[in-house]
Amino acid sequence: MIDTIIAGGEVYDGTGDAPRSTDIGISRDRIAALGDLSRAEARLRIDAQGRIVTPGFIDVHSHSDAYLLLEPHAHSKLFQGITTEIVGNCGCSGGPRLDGVRMPADWQEFDYPRKWRTLAEYRALLEEVGPALNVGLLVGHNNLRASVMGYSDRRADPGDLAQMRALLAESLDAGAIGFSTGLLYSPGMFAGMDEVEALLSETARRGGIYATHMRSEGAELLEALEETIGMAERAGCRLEISHLKTSGPANWHKIDALLERIDTARADGLELAADRYPYTAACTDLDVILPAWAAAGERSEILARLRDPGQRARIRVELLSGRADDYWGRVMVGATRHPDNIGFRGMRLDAVAAELGMEAVDAALHLIESDELHTGGIFFGMSAENMQRILAQDYVMIGSDGSLRAPSGALSHDHPHPRNYGAFTRFLRMAIDGETVALPEAVRKMTSLPAEQFRLRDRGLVRPGYFADIAVFDPGRILEKSSYAQPHQLSEGLQNLLVNGRAVISDGCLQDARPGWVLD
Ligand SMILES: [Zn+2]
Repeated sequence: MIDTIIAGGEVYDGTGDAPRSTDIGISRDRIAALGDLSRAEARLRIDAQGRIVTPGFIDVHSHSDAYLLLEPHAHSKLFQGITTEIVGNCGCSGGPRLDGVRMPADWQEFDYPRKWRTLAEYRALLEEVGPALNVGLLVGHNNLRASVMGYSDRRADPGDLAQMRALLAESLDAGAIGFSTGLLYSPGMFAGMDEVEALLSETARRGGIYATHMRSEGAELLEALEETIGMAERAGCRLEISHLKTSGPANWHKIDALLERIDTARADGLELAADRYPYTAACTDLDVILPAWAAAGERSEILARLRDPGQRARIRVELLSGRADDYWGRVMVGATRHPDNIGFRGMRLDAVAAELGMEAVDAALHLIESDELHTGGIFFGMSAENMQRILAQDYVMIGSDGSLRAPSGALSHDHPHPRNYGAFTRFLRMAIDGETVALPEAVRKMTSLPAEQFRLRDRGLVRPGYFADIAVFDPGRILEKSSYAQPHQLSEGLQNLLVNGRAVISDGCLQDARPGWVLD
């Protein structure tokens, strides 16, 4: 007995091949049949005439970890056609979170169903809450380091390393599919290559993937790439370079060398892929601009430095050196915390500075200090042309670099990057409009390519025996509505979405079902 038939759609099966018009039969959680099913009986028949049908999209670069516990329907992700998220990126994961590990500023704002410490405990809680989409877990290096060494600015000794290694092994055994670093952030920025490489060996030994936010994406981009490739090659670890970019106009010319070095590493046999979101602005905490010495230690220590006139002056000098005068005009304020700062959301720092009657660098420090390190920054530093070249590489997949949001409820109050709501629909729209790779290839980048690179078994293709993660779009209506000015808007154009054979969106409406699994 077939449970559901998706009838008459143009099926882009995820391989990159041209579409074909066919019916899809689904039994329980799997695709059971393809072909003419006009005479077959089914409990439910979805009319997909004139619709685009694809495998559900896989967002390999998500930061939804803690938010999945708050809004397990994952609204902003589901409405893009996303059926699987890989969380725990950039060195920051839900677990492990031993004593003293601080939450990212945006996660810390909320109360969770209960506390957790290990990755196994986080996973158990996530499964208890029950997400609407599938979730793959990475173990964040910053969680390991902070769990063992706190936020101190020192190298790991053999004892620290053994503890981090054990914690990583325990987390991988609990079902994590890989390891991630964020070497731009504290405390990962204090780690040497030997430390990361030792953890990569452990990851490789257990068949995991290494996803990295490299030490630099701008001034030291090529050096960081060399470091990354060297470590992955020596450890024998599959590699995913997160949000591949050339950050800052002064570094845009490095694109040729960047792509050539990656091609060489791939030709030498390294299993290397990368992800990218289809926007030219990055987004993270504004305090990422602080010099490393000023970002060391606990939040209270960082704030104390900002409030000490002598140290603040030193920070100011370092912030100004090496930054072009027009830098501040390319930084938009995202989320804020202090009531007086709400009006600055969505404004560029030079405009904030004019309103406050101070220089832009001082406006930035004022926000960081008064929001107590809870200010979000949206950084317009990427080249559109380089973005197109990166998106066109056959090993580049789509990753939102965003955490889920919802247009109402607890996760509707901040000012996020529009990629949280629109990365996949925007890329789909670009493909349909002929502004990037052809549509079959665009679909491959969001389905089978990520499934292969992250070893997600039986996902990413419309093929009998595969899990029935399937999206049905109205091609004329696909639109990412979310914008920098008004981010909290769901994408349009998705008619139906199935996760593990069950409907999570029907006729454009969110359903109650939450059929997602933790994938291991
Ligand atoms: Zn990152």
